[in-house]
Amino acid sequence: MILIDGKKVAAEIRSELKEKITLLKEEGKNVPGLVAIIVGDDPASHIYVSSKGKACLEIGMRTKTEIFDADISEGELLEVIKYYNSNNDYHGILVQLPLPKHINEDLVIETISPRKDVDGFHPVSIGNLVIGKDTFASCTPAGIKELLNRYKIETKGKHVVVVGRSNIVGKPIANIMLQKAEGANSVVTVVHSAAKEISYYSKQADILIAAIGKAEFIKADMVKDGVVVIDVGINRIEDSSKTKGYRIVGDVDFANVSKKASFITPVPGGVGPMTIAMLLSNTFKAYELYGK
Ligand code: NAP
Repeated sequence: MILIDGKKVAAEIRSELKEKITLLKEEGKNVPGLVAIIVGDDPASHIYVSSKGKACLEIGMRTKTEIFDADISEGELLEVIKYYNSNNDYHGILVQLPLPKHINEDLVIETISPRKDVDGFHPVSIGNLVIGKDTFASCTPAGIKELLNRYKIETKGKHVVVVGRSNIVGKPIANIMLQKAEGANSVVTVVHSAAKEISYYSKQADILIAAIGKAEFIKADMVKDGVVVIDVGINRIEDSSKTKGYRIVGDVDFANVSKKASFITPVPGGVGPMTIAMLLSNTFKAYELYGK
């Protein structure tokens, strides 16, 4: 069994980007920039945004965080986004979700220029992804594909079973793996809570991608020998042996499934670290395509 080390791959990606940005600086060129917009004081959102900002700085990317009170009007927020749509120093715009209830999230996402949609949530980006055009794929699914490709896992003609159909993980990764393209070209099945028997599908998977949000849901008797397992789940379970009183586990029963797997991602340290790396990578891509 090979453990897929997301921390290591994410560090590689960051260091590749850092090299490219250092070169740009040496040549006296503008560098890629990411602006993060955050509304309200949700502690988790602030932690996410600050780690994204830190990651930008570490590779020499320009970064800025715009923080607004929870009572900012929808109109004011849309004006901020429009301002950054036409600002040449920031090539990626990230609006941290969720937003307060009085703000229409769909409208906010649709206001971000598709050229700066580094989260890949804009309907234009999603449409382009589905029809196989080069676009910004949302960061977690893009990170999954990158892991499969960097570990040289054969995907062509393989049966990828995705458990979960969310707009941010399940649907985009299913569409990415379906593309007739290098590093994809898989036969894809997507299952969800309406499926009568998940194991009927999961047992057929050459590559199983679990994005469910239920701790250790996928058990060893639900997979076949030699399966490649990508565990997207991040779940807290009580653990009195830890000082925090809990530990983080994935959607896969790692201890037992790993005995049957050929490759598997751990949680934490698998898919998780890839998300920010792909955000940086998408921002660099936005710069290269539209920002020079
Ligand atoms: P989500 O929006 O809650 O979607 C969960 C999906 O799983 C839904 O499609 C749901 O089906 C399906 N599902 C739930 N219970 C099921 C069951 N018993 N059998 C079959 N399918 C079932 O979650 P998400 O945003 O995709 O996130 C999934 C997990 O990944 C979470 O643990 C989340 O924390 C984690 N995550 C990690 C990262 C990262 O590593 N950076 C990023 C995003 C998410 P229905 O559609 O029928 O309800």
